[in-house]
Amino acid sequence: MNIYDKLKKEGWTIEVGWIGRNTFGDCSHDRERIRINVQLLVVETFLHEWYHARNEDWSEAKVEKATYKRLQHMTISEFEELYEAIIMDT
Ligand SMILES: [Zn+2]
Repeated sequence: MNIYDKLKKEGWTIEVGWIGRNTFGDCSHDRERIRINVQLLVVETFLHEWYHARNEDWSEAKVEKATYKRLQHMTISEFEELYEAIIMDT
């Protein structure tokens, strides 16, 4: 049995959904719940690689900084729109 199935068998729930622009996941012992912000993971990864694609000479640190800065200024609807575009096309 893998660690995911083992945790579920112990009564924990694992949810996928939006938490916030700076939180990839969280864990509540009181609720026995783990949440994973798949939307942020996908959008953050896409933006990171997008900066690489658009700026071949940029360092990793510069790409990470630009990605973080962009994430802080996006609206929730921009997150949703970008997430949908990526998921629907892949
Ligand atoms: Zn990179």
